[in-house]
Amino acid sequence: MRKLCWGLLCCLLILTAGCVPVNVAADSKLGNGGLGGEVVTVFPSATITPSPTLIPTLTQTPFTPSTPVPSPTPTLTPDPNLTFTGPGPVLAPVLMYHHVKPYSTDSEYVVSVDQFKRQVQWLKDEGYQTITITDLVEAIRYGKYLPHKPIIVTFDDGYLDVYQNAYPILQEASYTATMYLIENAINDHGYISDAIIEELSTAGWEFGNHSATHAYLPSSKNMEVEVCASRARMIEKYDLPFDSFAYPYAAKDEASIQAVKDCGYSSGAGNGSFTIHEEERIFFLSRREIKSYFDMQRFITTVTDLR
Ligand SMILES: [Zn+2]
Repeated sequence: MRKLCWGLLCCLLILTAGCVPVNVAADSKLGNGGLGGEVVTVFPSATITPSPTLIPTLTQTPFTPSTPVPSPTPTLTPDPNLTFTGPGPVLAPVLMYHHVKPYSTDSEYVVSVDQFKRQVQWLKDEGYQTITITDLVEAIRYGKYLPHKPIIVTFDDGYLDVYQNAYPILQEASYTATMYLIENAINDHGYISDAIIEELSTAGWEFGNHSATHAYLPSSKNMEVEVCASRARMIEKYDLPFDSFAYPYAAKDEASIQAVKDCGYSSGAGNGSFTIHEEERIFFLSRREIKSYFDMQRFITTVTDLR
């Protein structure tokens, strides 16, 4: 019987521990009277001791109930300086400039540095904050957090004097702008360079396309090149979205508006008197041009006149 029991134990331990049995004299190992010279198969005492690894896992590893880790709750406290605006009509005057130079000229397109400084100072004192054309379009379409008094400053053609004279004044006021570039004029004398585009873009300025050659689109035979191909090349070159197109001479017809839509722009900038913008005018957004002969009162009326 004892032999049978040891045999069973042996089998069990061989199966579980893979130990090698040895033959020993039972009395020398088991003591307690022995088995009278009977040879039994037994393991050395050291190998009989069950290894801790043989203890079933459930008793070895105490059960620990999983404690749910609280996920961080998103803070929904909006920036107090911003107001959720839209979707729908959005009030935001869009100003259009061309040149800003240190001196006055006869051209209505050249605003002097002094004039520009006073205009920006007035906007700042009145609590206006700049947004981009894309901010405006997104607010109209989807709704977006905008400053309480949003305003958009745009410059057409990409003149170097804007970088030299307007940019520092806008920087001082923590303002940005949207600039519409003529692709073929970039890096030309009097126009901004690739390096300046990168610098302004890093400073938060937005760039839009103003066609390849500043063509008059309603009679252009190269609509695709002026509107589409130029955009594709500039996206590739500058890695910027160029999501808005400004019609050269603010001239448009049905075909040019359609081309702007088909090329994937999200907006088109023209001119006009509206300061409240709506979805149906997104592809010919009203911009109010600031002319060199405007005095401060005319400038203030241009900004604040609601339409
Ligand atoms: Zn232009």
